[in-house]
Amino acid sequence: MDERLVVIGADTAGMTAASQARRRNRDLDVVAFEMGDYASYAACGEPYYVAGVVDPLDRLIARTPEQFARAGIELHLRHEVTAIDLDRRVVEVRDHEGAATFESGFDHLLVSTGARAFVPPMPGRDLDGVHTLRTLGDAAALRSIADSGLGNAVIVGGGYIGLEVAEAFHTKGWTVTVVECLPQVLSRTLDGDLADEVAEAVRGMGINVDTDAMVEEIEGDGRVSGLSIGGVSIPADVVVLAIGSRPVVELADAAGIPLGVTGGIAVDDHQSTGIDGVWSAGDCAEVRHRVSGAMMNLHLGTVANKTGRVAGVNITGGDLAFPGVLATAITRVHDLEIATTGLRLSEAIAAGLDVVDATVKGGTAAHYMPESEPLTIRVTVERGTGRLIGAQIVGGRGAGKRIDVFAAAIWDEMAAGTLEWVDLAYAPPFAPVWDLVAIAARQAAVAATR
Ligand SMILES: Cc1cc2nc3c(=O)[nH]c(=O)nc-3n(C[C@H](O)[C@H](O)[C@H](O)COP(=O)(O)OP(=O)(O)OC[C@H]3O[C@@H](n4cnc5c(N)ncnc54)[C@H](O)[C@@H]3O)c2cc1C
Repeated sequence: MDERLVVIGADTAGMTAASQARRRNRDLDVVAFEMGDYASYAACGEPYYVAGVVDPLDRLIARTPEQFARAGIELHLRHEVTAIDLDRRVVEVRDHEGAATFESGFDHLLVSTGARAFVPPMPGRDLDGVHTLRTLGDAAALRSIADSGLGNAVIVGGGYIGLEVAEAFHTKGWTVTVVECLPQVLSRTLDGDLADEVAEAVRGMGINVDTDAMVEEIEGDGRVSGLSIGGVSIPADVVVLAIGSRPVVELADAAGIPLGVTGGIAVDDHQSTGIDGVWSAGDCAEVRHRVSGAMMNLHLGTVANKTGRVAGVNITGGDLAFPGVLATAITRVHDLEIATTGLRLSEAIAAGLDVVDATVKGGTAAHYMPESEPLTIRVTVERGTGRLIGAQIVGGRGAGKRIDVFAAAIWDEMAAGTLEWVDLAYAPPFAPVWDLVAIAARQAAVAATR
């Protein structure tokens, strides 16, 4: 009998693994169970669908169930795996349409149950008009609100998803307020002073940003009407909770699949859980940070794709190691671009590294070009060796993807003094003769000698 792979959760990680495994072994039976209405979709594009920049919704679907069927992958939507029996090597599945429950056997099992939006136990969270953004269904609901007229949109959480949703409602003409309980927005991306520059720039675009603002209650009678912050009520016609996400691990945990220190599923660099034939990838699994060496539970599509691919290769007898992450990330609010990679000064110190940082300001193009936009780069570097540890970028159009140069350099443990001389491309519309990346590297190399 052919070997059988069962995939639990059929989005980025699960279907990347399924496709990879099936491509490598045509005799492998691959069956994927997805409890939601959609599989293999780009959640990353959802804010742009809400904004009306992307249309229709199914443009965000990478591959349909029919395309998977043609590739020999059996995909069942609206089928929830409710239990895993590792001894009998079966999963219990509830068919949400037929309301039937059945068992499905496996030789290999991939747990790719992803993450869910975090919703704190806040009074009023169940009122109509209070939303999160995670699934395509969530995106459809927010788009129909955004299209239904104009009003006050309050986004709770100033992380990158919060800011992207803020941009979406602002694009649609709504009055938008971002409420953040911490003293800064983008606390996982930027140092406080750079985040303050972002908040100021976002206010300049006409989006309200309230930091140090703890929501006590979402107000309304059946339907949301406002939020109470510090005893003061602000009006809201829609509230989007963008307070972060948590790995979906209850099923794995109940089955005895070990969790790691972060709360994500513990895996080795081959995506194996340590239990024979049981694998995990994507948002629900841990990954190792290449600079700090620490395990993380990072919710990024890039990581879900790569770890899914690694799982698919190893499930089919390959030997592919996932090399880890730098937590590189990028976002934008209208024309303001924000990016990060590696460790910031405070993170590097917490990881036991002796580090300094350097900050430079300049432009994205030659100073005389009309398209030149302000650009700030901060580089973290190891004292003494000059090894690059991290970088943060804030700037106008063309700023953000410069982070990839730093990601590549940090990946290869390059010294700042080496990066200064790397042959970077130049023409006036794209950069000054000395790109600010090179100048930041030079300043960081000097700082490392102090
Ligand atoms: C609005 C938004 C914007 C984003 N933007 C970016 C970006 O710009 N860049 C970036 O890198 N990342 C971005 N991300 C993150 C990225 O989308 C995720 O990291 C990625 O989708 C994770 O894929 P996954 O397959 O691990 O998990 P998920 O996408 O969470 O998929 C897991 C699936 O498992 C299913 N499932 C769970 N339990 C069961 C069960 N018991 N039975 C059956 N099915 C189950 C779920 O229904 C879900 O469909 C964004 C995310 C969101 C929400």
